[in-house]
Amino acid sequence: MIDLCVIGAGPAGLMAAEVAIDAGLSVVVTDAKPSFGRKFLMAGKSGLNLTKDEPFTDFTAAFGDAENWLLPMLKNFRNMEVQSWATALGQPVFTGSSGRVFPKAMKASPLLRAWLLRLANKGVQFKTRWHWTGWNGQDLTFQTPDGPQTITACTCVLALGGASWPKLGSDGTWSDILVGEGVTLAPFKPANMGFNVQWSDYMKPHFGAPIKTVQITAGATSVRADFVISSKGIEGSGIYAVSKDMREGARLFIDLLPDTDIATLNSRIARLSKKTSRSSILRKALRLDPAKAALFNEFAHNIPLPDIVKAAKALAIEHTGTRPIAEAISTAGGVPRQELTGQLMLRRKPGVFCAGEMLDWEAPTGGYLITGCLATGRWAGQSVVNYAALRKA
Ligand SMILES: Cc1cc2nc3c(=O)[nH]c(=O)nc-3n(C[C@H](O)[C@H](O)[C@H](O)COP(=O)(O)OP(=O)(O)OC[C@H]3O[C@@H](n4cnc5c(N)ncnc54)[C@H](O)[C@@H]3O)c2cc1C
Repeated sequence: MIDLCVIGAGPAGLMAAEVAIDAGLSVVVTDAKPSFGRKFLMAGKSGLNLTKDEPFTDFTAAFGDAENWLLPMLKNFRNMEVQSWATALGQPVFTGSSGRVFPKAMKASPLLRAWLLRLANKGVQFKTRWHWTGWNGQDLTFQTPDGPQTITACTCVLALGGASWPKLGSDGTWSDILVGEGVTLAPFKPANMGFNVQWSDYMKPHFGAPIKTVQITAGATSVRADFVISSKGIEGSGIYAVSKDMREGARLFIDLLPDTDIATLNSRIARLSKKTSRSSILRKALRLDPAKAALFNEFAHNIPLPDIVKAAKALAIEHTGTRPIAEAISTAGGVPRQELTGQLMLRRKPGVFCAGEMLDWEAPTGGYLITGCLATGRWAGQSVVNYAALRKA
């Protein structure tokens, strides 16, 4: 009988495996996919943002409603420790201007390769293409290329990810298994996602255009950032930052000219001839680039001339809902706090622990997600070690 079976080889599962093997437990890591860490590798495609270099209290505040729950876990693996962890794997990091921390290589592949090698050298066994299907009594059951298989393990860490980007492995199908075991889950919702907009044909030439350095506000959240006009709607880091507020019903307002105050804009307009056309006002006084001017016209074409400045400083963007969860960067919902002990063990399944994005927490982009997964993975691994020690005693 193996001491620990980790199911799901993303950052959370691999961290749990390492803590357990370091404590002398026997560990097997299984994953449904032919290779490990596919979402982690995808995260590295546009620069692997591992964590954020900022005061710890600011860092934990980003976890919102889940801050209080995750605090002991984040204290146990702080944002600063993520940096030394990556460096110890031969991947030195740097901090970008916004405080975001990246490996110098930017990608995830060298980090993942070094981590898997270190785990293998420590004696962790790996099984790929093993799709977990549930339990048969105490045994874990899997569908594999060689047919159904079982693993008998003293403990198990489920680190199965959320439900976004299902083709990378985390497809959320584990939810049916846990519901079948009587676990009540929080419904999955997209997090850090784009929104649908029903554009007029007039916007077609601007699909793919970035809207740069605007002030983006929804509810209590307001950020200076960029976003992108896509054929389906709006997406990109600035939209993701306010996406939780928008998902919960807050309206989206864009200040297209955050560095110019209303008085300055009005005085520029006053200097123009009274006959100046609306499009010339946008170009000459507001100095909007073509994509910003198009966005303005899309949502403010009915605004009377005297209100142009006010509208450009708080352009209300109407959307028709979130893009599908499959396209979201991450997932809200999953296994809620009340179904787990403080050690992240399922109350209904003694010896079964959960970690990573499958837990019911969400956070913005900026390295909070990977740090949250590593920290909860580490916490679950340490809980397994304590649980195994108690069983042996
Ligand atoms: C495009 C993109 C960019 C991102 N960029 C960043 C970033 O820069 N910084 C950041 O902090 N976060 C980023 N993220 C989010 C981050 O990648 C995830 O939050 C993180 O990978 C989740 O880790 P995890 O270990 O919980 O789950 P995952 O990494 O999703 O791993 C779960 C594993 O479980 C396996 N699995 C699922 N079901 C089963 C089953 N039934 N049987 C066996 N195995 C199963 C899957 O195959 C998968 O390998 C990004 C995400 C995306 C999609």
